[in-house]
Amino acid sequence: MRPFTSTISFDEAQHRLRSAVVPIGRTERVALDESAGRVAADDIVSTLDVPPFARSAMDGYALVAADAAAASVDSPARLRIVERIFTGQVPRTAIVRGTCAEIATGAPLPDGADAVVMVEQTALDGDSHVRIQATAAAGQNIGRRAADISTGAIVLHRGDVLNPGRIGAVAAIGSGDVNVYARPRVAILSTGNEVVEPGSSLSPGQIFDVNRFTLTAIVEAHGGVADARRPVDDSVDSLGAALDACAGADIVIFSGGSSVGERDLIVDLIASRGEMIFHGIAVKPGKPTAFARLHAGDTPFFGMPGNPTSCLSNAYVLLVPFLRAVARLPPVPGRTLRMPLGRRIVSQAGRLQFYTVKLEKGMAMPAFKGSGEITSLSQADGYIQIPPDKSVVEEGESVEVTLF
Ligand code: AMP
Ligand code: MG
Repeated sequence: MRPFTSTISFDEAQHRLRSAVVPIGRTERVALDESAGRVAADDIVSTLDVPPFARSAMDGYALVAADAAAASVDSPARLRIVERIFTGQVPRTAIVRGTCAEIATGAPLPDGADAVVMVEQTALDGDSHVRIQATAAAGQNIGRRAADISTGAIVLHRGDVLNPGRIGAVAAIGSGDVNVYARPRVAILSTGNEVVEPGSSLSPGQIFDVNRFTLTAIVEAHGGVADARRPVDDSVDSLGAALDACAGADIVIFSGGSSVGERDLIVDLIASRGEMIFHGIAVKPGKPTAFARLHAGDTPFFGMPGNPTSCLSNAYVLLVPFLRAVARLPPVPGRTLRMPLGRRIVSQAGRLQFYTVKLEKGMAMPAFKGSGEITSLSQADGYIQIPPDKSVVEEGESVEVTLF
């Protein structure tokens, strides 16, 4: 056993992680319908006007506004209909005083017309005439050419996340694909002689691999491409070979073996292949967490605790911000709620505790069972933070819950 001689604070761990971020530089072209959540790698400049022509914003009649300047129900303007213009058609007849064209929303405005009166303010008068029963002002109900986007306008800036509205703007200028930053490749691997893949059967002393799946899910949810491997047994040779096989990953995450037991080999592994940036954080759960830089490729390496709740908890609070920064995604918008605590909690002094809670009847009910129990997380809606210098949170005390 090699006990932790020292731990760093959670703030210091965050700081060292922030300093180690290298935003991804690779880019790739993706089809627009696969671009949701990706990050634009270029400014995108429009080469056309949107809309490309002046168009009607209403179903109604295109006319010369002066013809209906004083029109009303009692004193309508009677105009001759010279054409019907549907969407996708090009008008053939110019509108002159005394005439109009029936026009659909989105259809091109005919030459000569400078206003559209909506159909609800008109009445047909025989087959070829219409009575306009409301005044018209020049420009009304017309979408002018380039009202939305003009040629040369920047539709998307480099670094913008492609959300639905931005994808729509790229579609509007006719691009079928978009240049985005590559998603970081994240190699994920569980260590431990006892850890076996779900789907097989357990021999005595064995457990199923949980961390590989929780880490895969969280990595995929935050902009990474998870490349999960089979579990590896606790020997320096196996771990070394597994690490070598992760060449090409942008981030490597191992779980297990990061503590101080005699089989906890992550420290030895890093000693031979990288530089430890920290090992041991004054946080609960998740104290035995390591972060290093591998010599090969200068790749960041996370040594996560084997305990499933410790592993996933630190993935939420430390890995996710790091991964998102590498992926060039903005920080997760923290969704927090304030409510009373449903039951008294005693917390260990000297460590920042992330204590999981379940929302029940407007209260935060403690849900944390232990670092090794995944139900501490699967049965929780979020967590509260208990600072290192606080050892008791009383029932009824107002707490801030960060939702998962
Ligand atoms: P370790 O960090 O390797 O000392 O493991 C701490 C505890 O977590 C032990 O009870 C392990 O059996 C368990 N554990 C380690 N890795 C995993 C895993 N991938 N899935 C589920 N439990 C694990
Ligand atoms: Mg282990």
